Amino acid sequence: MKISQRAMAVPASATMAVTGRAKEMKAAGIDVVSYGAGEPDFDTPDFIKDAAIEAMKAGKTGYTATPGIPALRKAISEKFKEDNGLDYSPEQIIVNIGAKHSVYESMQAVIDPGDEVLLPTPYWVTYPETVKLAGGVPVVVNTSENNSYKITPDELKAAINDKTALLVLNSPNNPGGFSYTPDELAAIAKVLEGTDVMVISDEIYEKLVYGGSKFVSFASLSEDAYNRTLTINGLSKAYAMTGWRLGYTAGPVDVIKAMGRLQSHMTQNPVTFCQEAAIAALKDTTGAVENMRIEFEKRGEYMAKRLNDIDGVDCKEPTGAFYCFPDVTAHYGRTIGGKKIESSMDFAQALLEDANVAVVPGDPFGCPKNVRLSFACSVEQIDKGLDRIKEWLG
Ligand code: PMP
Repeated sequence: MKISQRAMAVPASATMAVTGRAKEMKAAGIDVVSYGAGEPDFDTPDFIKDAAIEAMKAGKTGYTATPGIPALRKAISEKFKEDNGLDYSPEQIIVNIGAKHSVYESMQAVIDPGDEVLLPTPYWVTYPETVKLAGGVPVVVNTSENNSYKITPDELKAAINDKTALLVLNSPNNPGGFSYTPDELAAIAKVLEGTDVMVISDEIYEKLVYGGSKFVSFASLSEDAYNRTLTINGLSKAYAMTGWRLGYTAGPVDVIKAMGRLQSHMTQNPVTFCQEAAIAALKDTTGAVENMRIEFEKRGEYMAKRLNDIDGVDCKEPTGAFYCFPDVTAHYGRTIGGKKIESSMDFAQALLEDANVAVVPGDPFGCPKNVRLSFACSVEQIDKGLDRIKEWLG
């Protein structure tokens, strides 16, 4: 059967080359330490599971309104007010099937063919593909290691032209493991004033910030920022709910309605009893989220320390999400275990084959000098893998 040009143009995920091979090796009985995970290693807290079970038993198993049940949109509206100081009415909110769906659908709603979309490096691998699927043109904006890979006002100013339609911000950042300070975001918001550039602010890692850094939602910075921003968030990372597929988007009513029209013909509503459970999650008073954050913070600090103890590995301490993103270029040009290392891909492949440790290469994120290690794993796993990396490089 013929495959459409659209589908042919979507590459297989480059990050899968290594993580897929790691899975194969594990299945063959090899003791692989995997730092590939993009999800918490915790299980969903019981009170959230119970809410889903109760909803199912109460017969909440049919279709709902496309943008989500009113009680959930209201709970999200209250969350924005309480956590972020943002006024989004329930009509300004649509519930999507994971934040990945929020990203896809929001691009479909606001991008026209030829529109340019600014993607500061490192960017999440899904952004360029969703831009292209919407007919847009991804424009990669290189950032500097000296500024912890965060885009500066000058870099942003230089990247904007007449065709620039959208800037995608992601703080805390996957894969960079950094988060922007309120002042840094305010400086970005200032550059955008007087332009027609919209913003997608992907805030999925909001709850995972470390080292005393303070999360601020981009849209809360000013009225101007509020009016040009679509705020995306979800339950996957904060509540250990990756499999439940619940994300949401907030913004101007006309954009949210447009997303609703698209969603009504694609997926319709998010899973009914998951929506009920999401209300319970958002009203959490058990401290479950904070407990997970504290644990991630300890592991991140520890992993960065262990990485920096290795010669030729340079890692900034993570201030958000659950990733270390060290620069490993000091090892490019070397031959290790008979394999020539010339790129992040070579580094990740050789490390996996020779030392049985899976890391994700930085190239697909627009950062060829780096590799990504997730610390959504136990301290024992961190020690075991880092011992192996140290020995392999030494
Ligand atoms: N944005 C970023 C930056 C992510 O890392 C992820 C998950 N890997 C998502 C969005 C999507 O999360 P989900 O679809 O599980 O809500």
